[in-house]
Amino acid sequence: MKRDNYVPESLVEAVRYFTDPDNAHAFMAQLRWPTGVVCPHCAMLGNESKDVSFYANRRVWRCQTCKKQFSVKVGTIFEDSPLTLDKWLVGMWLIANAKNGISSHEIARALGITQKSAWFLDHRIRLAMKMGSIEKSKMQGTVEADETFIGGKASNMHKSKKAEKIQGRGSSGKEIVMGLLQRFEDETGLLKTGSSEVRVKHIPDTSGETLQGEVRANVEAGSEVFTDAAPAYRGLSPEYYHEFVDHAVSYAEGRVSTNGLENFWSLFDRCLMGTWTHVDPYHLFRYLDEQAFRFNARKLTDADRFLLVTGAVSGKRLTYKELIGKVNHEQETQE
Ligand SMILES: [Zn+2]
Repeated sequence: MKRDNYVPESLVEAVRYFTDPDNAHAFMAQLRWPTGVVCPHCAMLGNESKDVSFYANRRVWRCQTCKKQFSVKVGTIFEDSPLTLDKWLVGMWLIANAKNGISSHEIARALGITQKSAWFLDHRIRLAMKMGSIEKSKMQGTVEADETFIGGKASNMHKSKKAEKIQGRGSSGKEIVMGLLQRFEDETGLLKTGSSEVRVKHIPDTSGETLQGEVRANVEAGSEVFTDAAPAYRGLSPEYYHEFVDHAVSYAEGRVSTNGLENFWSLFDRCLMGTWTHVDPYHLFRYLDEQAFRFNARKLTDADRFLLVTGAVSGKRLTYKELIGKVNHEQETQE
C-alpha cells in the first residue's frame, strides 16, 4: 500500500491511508528524514549517525553508534504520546484545515479519544503550527499594526481563577492582543488578493512602550506602518513612515487603513465565539498561533497546509506539565 511521497488530498483519503500503521510510519519517516534516517539521540549530542538498523515488526530503529533505540516519534511533538500516529496525522489534518477552528470535544469525537487527550494533542499541534514566528526575519514594506481586546471569557471562569487572571490585565479584565500584518501589494499599491501575513501576540498593556516595542522588534526600520489614531503609536516617526487613520472619522484613507488586521480579528472572533468558547487566557497565545498559521497559509490547498504542519513536528516538545504551567491550569482544559 505504501507509495513513495504520497500525500492524501482529502480527509477521507488521509483516514484511509493512515489507518494502516505502516503507511503512517513510513509517511512520517520520509518527512522527517528525506535523505535517510538519522539517530535523534546522537543528533541531540551534535553527532550525525546514519548507521541504524530498522526492526520492521516494532517499527523502531537501533543506532549502531549509541546503541539506543528510537521510533519516529522521538524528538517530535508526538514523543511519549500513547496515541497512535494515525490519530496524530488525522488530527493534524482536521486542525490545519478547520477554517473556524475545531474544539477539543469535536477532535475527541472524531478520533475516538478522551476530550482531555484531544486537548493535549491540540496544543502540541499548535506548537508545530508556531511557524518560527520568533526566528522569522523582520517584516518590511507596508505593515499594519493594531491591537484588539479579547473579552468576556473571564466571566466563564471560576471566581478564584478570575481574580488571578484579571489582576494586572487590561481594562475590565480583557486580554489584549497585538497584531502586525505585512501587505504584499502590486506596483500600483493595490493589495494582491489574499496576500498578507500576520504575526500576533498576547501583550500585557497598550502603552506606547509595549506597542512600539512590538513594532520595533518585528518591523524593519524605514517601513511604512499604518495604525489607528491611538496616541500610543505616536513616536514611530521618523524611524518609520508612520501614517494613521482616525477611526472616528473613517476606516481608510487611500491605502492607509488597518483593514487587513480587522479581517483577521473578525476571523479570530468567529473561532472564539463559535468554537473555543472557554479559552484560558494563559493559553491564548497558542490559539493565536493556530489562527495565524491558517491565515498565513490560507492560499494553500488542504494537502499543502497539512504538509506544512506535519513537516514542523521535529525538534519541538511540550509536556503536559509545561502546558498547564506552574499555576495549575488543568482546570481550564475545557474549551
Ligand atoms: Zn545514536
